[in-house]
Amino acid sequence: MSDDDKNLGNWGVNTRLAHGGYDPRDYHGFVNPPVVHASTVLFPDARTMDRRAQKYTYGTRGTPTTDALAEAINELEGAAGTILVPSGLAAVTVPFLGFAKAGDHVLVVDSVYHPTRIFCDTIFSRLGVETEYYAPDIGADISRLMRPNTTIVHTEAPGSNTFEMQDIRAIADAAHAGGAVVMMDNTWATPLYFRPLDFGADISIHAATKYPSGHSDILFGTVSANAAHWEQLREANTALGVCASPDDSYQILRGLRTMGLRLERHQQSALELARWLEGREDVARVLHPALPSFDGHDIWKRDFKGASGLFSIVLKEPDASRQKTRAFAFLDALKIFGLGYSWGGYESLAVLANLADRRVAKAPAEGPVLRLQIGLEDVADLKRDLEAGFAAARAAG
Ligand SMILES: *Cc1c(COP(=O)(O)O)cnc(C)c1O
Repeated sequence: MSDDDKNLGNWGVNTRLAHGGYDPRDYHGFVNPPVVHASTVLFPDARTMDRRAQKYTYGTRGTPTTDALAEAINELEGAAGTILVPSGLAAVTVPFLGFAKAGDHVLVVDSVYHPTRIFCDTIFSRLGVETEYYAPDIGADISRLMRPNTTIVHTEAPGSNTFEMQDIRAIADAAHAGGAVVMMDNTWATPLYFRPLDFGADISIHAATKYPSGHSDILFGTVSANAAHWEQLREANTALGVCASPDDSYQILRGLRTMGLRLERHQQSALELARWLEGREDVARVLHPALPSFDGHDIWKRDFKGASGLFSIVLKEPDASRQKTRAFAFLDALKIFGLGYSWGGYESLAVLANLADRRVAKAPAEGPVLRLQIGLEDVADLKRDLEAGFAAARAAG
């Protein structure tokens, strides 16, 4: 459709997912954009080349394929601009490198995605950037941790593996009062269920490896910025030379077209299982933000539009010496749930969470934490699979 017809703000989210980012009339009417493999772009004459006076100038600076995806993400995030990078982890490290300098202090939530912590404790540390980890429930009190040299406040909600919620608005206001840029790793909710920029974050980060991909076969990251931070983010992207491949960009845009429907099913199945698990003797606690029993539920209910398909259970086994045996027996008995990292694909996965890295947000004491990614399979089959897991865990005592 033409730009005049495109009033995406008024459209429902599934309409925007279906039509965002690309106008078929831009390329002979083909419904999907071309996959442009490019380094060199030719200029018609020396004068145009000298001024770089045309839309595309070099492969690292964008192509019609990457533009289509970036534009679709901008619409979903309400962002001024989006960069595309080759993994979710790069979607964290590129803005970190773009906004921090030697001598800075950065605040990172303690329930952060573990590889983000590794980056801070190695590369940031070597570059002279000091990282301090804060409690996920800190809210406006983050102002007490702000220093004159605090330049980044990094949030992630729900927290990795343990799903702590964060009051993003309160944290953003306090961080801005101290002059810091606020980033959020929003991978769990996707822009469908939470839009960080609407709640005061300046930078929204996604491992598009998860739901946008949806099929466990692509590594990809997106970083979106508000108007005030877009130029600096783009500069970091260009200066670092970290850009995404055309084939993967195409596949992620393809994934977005069905993401709304997939997420609805992930949400529904995960909630049904979470409620069922909450009633079981073998389970001490279910860590799922959409359950009223969960600590951060009020924030989730106030700020989020939905829940995706990833949550954890705490298996009831307070005896630390027996936790691993029980957890391993549970995992080894599963037939539909695969044992593997990552999530957001069509297939269910389970993993024993390692929480040894926590400094402030301590691991639950009641037992081992098992993280479940609920895929698109039939819930009755998943229940039977989990039943077998519980039986094996009991027998392993
Ligand atoms: C998976 C994940 C990442 C990293 O994504 P990769 O593409 O695997 O590098 C970053 N943040 C969160 C919250 C994630 O779940």
